[in-house]
Amino acid sequence: MYKVTLSEKDVPKKWYNIVADLPMEVPAPSQTDEGKQLENLPNIFSKYVLEQEMSTERWIEIPKEVRKFYQKIGRPSPLFRATGLEDYLDTPAKIFYKREDTSPTGSHKLNTAIAQAYYAKKAGAERVTTETGAGQWGSALSLACSLIGLKCTVYMVRVSFDQKPYRKTIMQLYNGEINASPSDKTAFGRKILAENPKHPGTLGIAISEAVEDALNDDKVFYTLGSVLNHVLLHQTVIGLETKKQLESIDETPDVMVACVGGGSNFGGAIFPFVKDKIDGDLDCKFIAVEPKACPSLTQGEYKYDYGDTEGLTPLMKMYTLGHNFVPPSIHTGGLRYHGSSPLVALLVNEGLVEGRSVQQTDVFKSGQIFANKEGIIPAPESSHAIKVGIDEALKCKKTGEEKTIVINLSGHGLLDLQGYEDFLEGNLED
Ligand SMILES: *Cc1c(COP(=O)(O)O)cnc(C)c1O
Repeated sequence: MYKVTLSEKDVPKKWYNIVADLPMEVPAPSQTDEGKQLENLPNIFSKYVLEQEMSTERWIEIPKEVRKFYQKIGRPSPLFRATGLEDYLDTPAKIFYKREDTSPTGSHKLNTAIAQAYYAKKAGAERVTTETGAGQWGSALSLACSLIGLKCTVYMVRVSFDQKPYRKTIMQLYNGEINASPSDKTAFGRKILAENPKHPGTLGIAISEAVEDALNDDKVFYTLGSVLNHVLLHQTVIGLETKKQLESIDETPDVMVACVGGGSNFGGAIFPFVKDKIDGDLDCKFIAVEPKACPSLTQGEYKYDYGDTEGLTPLMKMYTLGHNFVPPSIHTGGLRYHGSSPLVALLVNEGLVEGRSVQQTDVFKSGQIFANKEGIIPAPESSHAIKVGIDEALKCKKTGEEKTIVINLSGHGLLDLQGYEDFLEGNLED
């Protein structure tokens, strides 16, 4: 058995909201004395997603149209057994991976892009704005807007804009408008450019620009590809499907691994299982993997900080490297974020989730092994999870334990070949 599939009718009808089941208080977002960050929220988000952001309901109905698009993009996504990798590692562990790379834009991000575009349109928007790092989110949102019927403006971190020209083409093909950030389209972008015309950009700066663009126009909403509760909520389709798939073959996970940028694929993949762990029904280790170069969960401080650089977003309690942190230009654009999802941060702080950081060259090496043994070239982001999945499987080899390890393959790396090329040529720094 290599592949565990579900049928279209098994696409979840409801998203799972972990807030309903957490035994501890979830720290609320707050604002500074001089700022109006909380008052800004209704100007940048539709009331529907704000409701979800604050919701304490356990299950939230997925609108019919969103569910229809989930089916259209190929959900439920398959769960694969990594027999090639298991044989190669000579491990008694069973390794599975959930395939979010099968989405048309190549990552899990379409799961929330479709939902956010749907709610923006329902609230009367004509256009949405957003930031993108590696370009995965911008591509997903551009396609979602095209499907739903909205205009889309993307602020893309300049270093990725330069490193990943094909992502730009993809967004343009899906009719997205794209600006390298910092850009001259916003006051904040112009301010940064005046200080440093060659600024490489950061996700924090791009968020500030996209928020500014949406603030002053009630026909324009801002959308975010990660971090916020409603984004992680939408991503729980991943974990809900995985749960059903594992149950169908009588497996329970002992270790679940996913990479963390803002935390959305990680949260989406594990939240439905965290409830069982809290209830004492599941003994599973959840590992959130991040790059050593941008180690918010493992080196950051757990405190209130802004989600963006300028300070337009409310303060959120999270693990953060500081909102002015400029991560080095590592090849894993999707993981270059100073902060983290408040929900994932809370679970780390409570000891329910373990954060782990890994070196870039080890990551690409693991990605190459995976490509050779499973056939799929993983996104460098996903290779972080694969690296730790491999480490855990090798531990099992030592101890002889037959653990079940589940890796969330958040995306494929066919548009990240520059990173792989630099790896093959020995040009990647540790
Ligand atoms: C964006 C992205 C990530 C990181 O974002 P999260 O919100 O942490 O999931 C990881 N993998 C891929 C393939 C991505 O596109």
